[in-house]
Amino acid sequence: MRLEIDGRGLSSEIEELARISEAPAPAVTRIVFTPADLQARAWLRVRCEEAGLAVRHDAIGNTFVRWDGADPALPAVGTGSHIDAIPNAGKYDGVVGVLGALEAIRALQRSGFRPRRSIELLVFTAEEPTRFGIGCIGSRMLSGALSAAAARDLKDRDGATVEEVRKTAGFAGELEEVKLPGTCYAAFVELHIEQGPLLEQRQIPLGIVTTIAAPASLCMTIEGSGGHAGGVLMPDRHDALCASAELILFLEHTALATGAIDTVATVGICDVFPGAVNSIPSRVRLSVDIRDTNLERRDGVIRELENAIPSIAAKRQVSIHSEFLNAEAPADCAPSVVEALSESCGKHALNFLPMVSRAYHDSLFMSRIAPTAMLFIPCHKGYSHRPDEYASPEDIVRGTLVLAETLAALAA
Ligand SMILES: [Zn+2]
Repeated sequence: MRLEIDGRGLSSEIEELARISEAPAPAVTRIVFTPADLQARAWLRVRCEEAGLAVRHDAIGNTFVRWDGADPALPAVGTGSHIDAIPNAGKYDGVVGVLGALEAIRALQRSGFRPRRSIELLVFTAEEPTRFGIGCIGSRMLSGALSAAAARDLKDRDGATVEEVRKTAGFAGELEEVKLPGTCYAAFVELHIEQGPLLEQRQIPLGIVTTIAAPASLCMTIEGSGGHAGGVLMPDRHDALCASAELILFLEHTALATGAIDTVATVGICDVFPGAVNSIPSRVRLSVDIRDTNLERRDGVIRELENAIPSIAAKRQVSIHSEFLNAEAPADCAPSVVEALSESCGKHALNFLPMVSRAYHDSLFMSRIAPTAMLFIPCHKGYSHRPDEYASPEDIVRGTLVLAETLAALAA
């Protein structure tokens, strides 16, 4: 089998897809079920059909692009990622794993390879949480991590539900039918940009992910009492923002205190009410994101944070309410798929780094229904979710080549 990746064609497809955006170039904004997302899906469908592949979608809009194997009844080998993009994002996140997979399939076709198992490219709906506040809606539903009932009622900022929006976008059928049994896929591999700086710093062309870290997110509401910034004297205050500051620093301290480099905690949103220069904050809403590769350690940080609430509330004379939004378990990648990836790197004399994925991906959920692993390529300075996100054509070609080799091995 002689595999040749059409790097030029792949680069120009990445550029073409990037032009389907609500934001002016070089920024890419493609939010799920908006006209840009639907136009991108239609564009991709044409590319897949040109390659002779069968395209179908499910009720939530997950797309399945299938190359039938000689034994189509066998569990397929899956690959894929997402093409939605947060506001003001770049052109490679997710896209490399979709267009790279399509090119990997075409390269295999050109080489004369015929798979025994079918190879299926999956394009997941709403990997980004922008619209409905929760990420990976498509893969969560495929794996059963998000039920049809819970998905149906998710609302966007305008109050439109997933149920309404997906139907308007043309995705009919019952959401109950999205969940797949654990027997559909013999393996799943996702190609993705690293979204971190390690590969570039170490000048290693590829990363093979062995563990995917998983987040827990909480929303904390701190209620104190407001008042005039001049009129209320310091001893009489119940400043909600000062109490929040204690919580935030406690969380930072607790995450550091695990001593594990993989424990990370972030307060990314701090909504201050009423938000006026001459008014004491009476209410604050914090978003808390805690991640780790180790479930027990991560949940330990959450417990310590929750245990600290009564004393901070008492000291500051405020009320603190914390609500769990979601908590996923980290996933270990499947040794069989990790091995197939490393053998493929070996075949092409490419060095790789075993690594942890610190962002989570659709693969986190696919790992619940299929032996799963991920392949990373370097991205410039680790920049991602910003317009200057960049992966070089050479790195994209290397990733695509190893993906193609791995799909062939898994589907043979
Ligand atoms: Zn992504």
